[in-house]
Amino acid sequence: MPSEGYDVVIIGTGAGGGTLARALADAPARILLVERGRFVPREPENRDPAAVWGRRRYQTSERWVDGGGRSFRPYMHYCVGGNTKFWGSVLFRMRREDFGELEHVDGVSPAWPIDYDTLEPYYDRAERLYEVHGTAGEDPTEAPRAPFPYPAVPHAEQVARYVARIREQGLHPSPLPLGLRGPGEPGRCILCDTCNSFPCHRDAKSDADVCCVRPAAARGNVTLWTDARARRLLTDPAGRRVEAVEVDHGGERRRVEASLVVLSCGAVNSAALLLQSANDRHPDGLANSSGLAGRRYMAHLATMMAGFHPFRRNRTVFQKTVAINDFYLRGPDGGHPLGQIQTQGRTHGVMARTAVPWMPLGFFDFWVARGLDWLAMTEDLPRPDNRVTVDAGGRVRLSYGPNNVRAHDRLVREVRRMLRRLGLGIVYAHPRSIHNTTHQCGTLCFGTDPRRSVLDPWCRSHDVENLFVVDASFFPSSSAVNPGLTIVAQALRVADHIRETELRCAGAQDPFPRTGA
Ligand SMILES: Cc1cc2nc3c(=O)[nH]c(=O)nc-3n(C[C@H](O)[C@H](O)[C@H](O)COP(=O)(O)OP(=O)(O)OC[C@H]3O[C@@H](n4cnc5c(N)ncnc54)[C@H](O)[C@@H]3O)c2cc1C
Ligand code: SF4
Repeated sequence: MPSEGYDVVIIGTGAGGGTLARALADAPARILLVERGRFVPREPENRDPAAVWGRRRYQTSERWVDGGGRSFRPYMHYCVGGNTKFWGSVLFRMRREDFGELEHVDGVSPAWPIDYDTLEPYYDRAERLYEVHGTAGEDPTEAPRAPFPYPAVPHAEQVARYVARIREQGLHPSPLPLGLRGPGEPGRCILCDTCNSFPCHRDAKSDADVCCVRPAAARGNVTLWTDARARRLLTDPAGRRVEAVEVDHGGERRRVEASLVVLSCGAVNSAALLLQSANDRHPDGLANSSGLAGRRYMAHLATMMAGFHPFRRNRTVFQKTVAINDFYLRGPDGGHPLGQIQTQGRTHGVMARTAVPWMPLGFFDFWVARGLDWLAMTEDLPRPDNRVTVDAGGRVRLSYGPNNVRAHDRLVREVRRMLRRLGLGIVYAHPRSIHNTTHQCGTLCFGTDPRRSVLDPWCRSHDVENLFVVDASFFPSSSAVNPGLTIVAQALRVADHIRETELRCAGAQDPFPRTGA
């Protein structure tokens, strides 16, 4: 087996791995990025709903099984930049309260081992690196904060009218924080209607590929392998250090040795890789002395909703600019938290048809042209039985049953009420299936107690000293905001820690200054 050596190997180039690579790229270290997918090509299909949704052109063809043994095709993208290439780029900070214990109607959301103040400077940096646009001080649940590095994307005219009427209902809509590169500027983001779940045809979306991997890989000390799948981590005889990673690349299995190994394959695949790397010293899976590796999988309860008026066309192209957090920390009657409401990108007929495939496309085209799209999202609570396992043949099994359903149902009712008051009397609600993995997290949670967590507060394995994990696995709770910015912020924090403790070099004072807006 051919063998090569590096100082750091990072497996996976999504929100966590791509960001970490960018933050370490100027360190005096030989860094290898191992990415299972390829670059997403820039091609006409980037903007074609029939290709993206109908033929699922960019989605993996891999199949997993669920807890009931049913096979399904996960909504995952294996490519440079990972799922960030397809994200809606809604880049929220978690609320200060999300870092503590929060009581929900169906149980308690556990505390994080770090607080908001610890992550705040990294949120600042993350927002500069991913060019986040927003307005501070309008969201009632947001911790006091410095201004956003870029101004909020203005609401389109029709959306602005709805926002005024939502305010009249006593709610507090605020600008949705968005990672976009130069919205409205010549040659940059054109605020189009194929953003969320589509790759950007102009490289104007702030994703991990564009913002991090490409700038990192342009440096001489960073090597990027695409089409390279990590198969197994091998430890030294004592089981204390990872000695090498086995990688399928270029038609052969290669052995990569590195002083430091950083796993960032996404919450399901990182857990699966550790479980597959079991050996004599780690019989239940690598770094799994707690027995928690793969457990506590979370994914958000989410319902896509649309309010319609049969005689009112929605002429807005880019409508994804509104957040409503009034029910984030407590329900309308002062009860338990319900979650978050945000506008979604425009739904296309082909996308809507995936819910009811036997209906003619023209039916959907008529209705989506008159719909205002929303997403209602509720915190998912960590349950040990919601878990990732791997069968003898290496296939992933994802056993999941939703919880906190009562809170989510109540949130959906509140959105219906709000839409009806806006005159959008026909409301369609499509709950995401239990197979939806878009906001996966929690399978290798971080904490201070090695018996109750897999990683320490710096995302280093409690059991294996040179192993870090920086994807969404580390989340002890899911909060009810989109996870991306928190993954990025923690990856930047871990990068600082690695620089200080492993590479013995401090980071630059302001590594990601704001570029011209
Ligand atoms: C359609 C869609 C919309 C979304 N919208 C938003 C949004 O608006 N805001 C938000 O915050 N979040 C959003 N998300 C979620 C967000 O994309 C994820 O939370 C985030 O990308 C997770 O980061 P990660 O580092 O954990 O994993 P990923 O970004 O998934 O990266 C994992 C990487 O590891 C690679 N990999 C996996 N296994 C291996 C292996 N064995 N060897 C080598 N490489 C491997 C994968 O190819 C991938 O590149 C969205 C997701 C989707 C799919
Ligand atoms: S041009 Fe802007 S709105 Fe359109 S896909 Fe790219 S980043 Fe998204």
